[in-house]
Amino acid sequence: MDQYDVVVIGGGPGGYVAAIRCAQLGLKTACVDDWINKQGEPALGGTCLNVGCIPSKALLDSSHHFHHIKHEAGDHGISASGVTIDVNKMVARKDKIVHMLTQGIAGLFRKNQVTWLQGRGRLGREKQVEVTASTDESAPKTVVQAGSIIIATGSVPVRIPPAPIDNNRIVDSTGALDFRETPRRLGVIGAGVIGLELGSVWKRLGSEVIILEALGEFLAPVDREIATIAHKTLKKQGLDIRLGARVTGTGTDSLQVTVNYEQNGEKQQINVDKLIVAVGRKPNTEGLGAAEAGLELDDRGFIHVDELCRTNLPDVYAVGDVVRGPMLAHKASEEGVAVAERIAGKHGHMNYDIIPWVIYTWPEIAWVGKTEQDLSNEGREFRTGTFPFAANGRARSMGDTTGIVKIIGDAATDRILGVHIIGPNASELIAESVLAMGFEGSTEDIALTIHAHPTLSEAMHEAALAVDNRTLHF
Ligand code: FAD
Ligand code: NAD
Repeated sequence: MDQYDVVVIGGGPGGYVAAIRCAQLGLKTACVDDWINKQGEPALGGTCLNVGCIPSKALLDSSHHFHHIKHEAGDHGISASGVTIDVNKMVARKDKIVHMLTQGIAGLFRKNQVTWLQGRGRLGREKQVEVTASTDESAPKTVVQAGSIIIATGSVPVRIPPAPIDNNRIVDSTGALDFRETPRRLGVIGAGVIGLELGSVWKRLGSEVIILEALGEFLAPVDREIATIAHKTLKKQGLDIRLGARVTGTGTDSLQVTVNYEQNGEKQQINVDKLIVAVGRKPNTEGLGAAEAGLELDDRGFIHVDELCRTNLPDVYAVGDVVRGPMLAHKASEEGVAVAERIAGKHGHMNYDIIPWVIYTWPEIAWVGKTEQDLSNEGREFRTGTFPFAANGRARSMGDTTGIVKIIGDAATDRILGVHIIGPNASELIAESVLAMGFEGSTEDIALTIHAHPTLSEAMHEAALAVDNRTLHF
């Protein structure tokens, strides 16, 4: 039986990063992963690279270019006629990017001498892992012995009985990355991150998009001021977002999907060409043998871990979407690194208070730390400073003036408690705030930092100045 210092189960951003870091630290490491890509080949990278972060951003970028050329380039004096989109080519480009990046992970495994065991991993007895080949389930199982095990089996989409996925008319996020043509009318259930990102992709390409959201509040976890601007802006872009809509049933025929829902106590119906179900994701422990191994799950099915990602079984850790906390690729990877370092006897560090979030609509939405509503609920005193992109020179030259930066500082100490941005390139701008908060910085620290001119980051500087009512350009 092959022996490893560490066996990682799952090759997504939690698992593959943990495996690379373990190997870098001199630990003999194997990573078991069962992903089979749409070409029928084993592929590393998990949800994120294959059907998540990367392909969705590839489509967001393609659709952004199309929309910009068609609707905004004219403002720059650029005229283009007969602009069309070849959806198959756009999807093929996305597939090529995914292929290149997943192959890249296989290359990193070779470089770092991580053994890739292709198949489904199951917890055996005494830190053994049984591997069943995903391409040939009748093949004999391989059993490997681990010193430590890191479980990073990720998550899968939540399904709802009124809208069963048929991978034709009713799809989940994976199906929505592979439409062969732009749907004339697209329905989306769930106005969360996936609903808004993928809804935006197809809206920009010309679909009429109707989003049905069960909650009465738009983007409930987001700072209210930002969510209000986002709601208004996305509605103006043509996303028809219907709040408080409870889907009761669907029916499909060869041409369309009928969606029945209730809103404000009234029965409603829409007919669409395609329906995306994006109502959240749930932890994936299927086939892991958790119950037989005595691995403790919490009441929502997540693997129970402490703050150091230790499960109830000795030397068995779990990271990423399969444990508590936000379901984000960078959270999964950082937990993977921290656990690898702890196994190697170092002090792996993870600061859960400063995990940035980004929603890749346009304008983008990004935040870190607490919202105003969090702080009000905690009864904590704070001060805020905001600055609009409309008053930022770079945003004006780009023609992207919608949005604001908002910084929240502790009323007594001025320590930054949260930063909330809606605006162009918010995904990149948020990094400065994460760093400042990591160093326990104050809004004054950002106010004292020289920001290059003309840049979008000057909006951050001005928002920090605004905390003390001393903005210069607004
Ligand atoms: P996963 O990436 O899910 O990987 C788990 C891997 O383990 C998979 O390969 C799976 O097949 C494998 N596996 C499961 N069970 C076993 C087993 N028993 N044996 C062997 N292998 C197993 N996050 C962001 O931060 N930014 C984004 O922009 C973003 N966009 C997204 C867009 C979409 C459409 C979706 C669906 C998700 C997006 N996410 C994004 C979320 C992100 O993809 C996840 O948070 C991230 O992939 C979690 O990483 P993970 O390693 O925990 O799990
Ligand atoms: P989500 O939790 O972001 O949003 C789901 C939405 O569906 C919520 O607003 C919820 O109220 C609504 N909903 C739930 N049940 C419903 C029902 N029956 N009818 C109508 N609405 C219903 O989940 P998601 O959009 O599916 O994304 C899953 C996770 O993937 C995200 O939470 C995030 O962790 C990750 N993700 C991240 C990114 C990113 O970082 N940019 C992008 C995509 C996905």
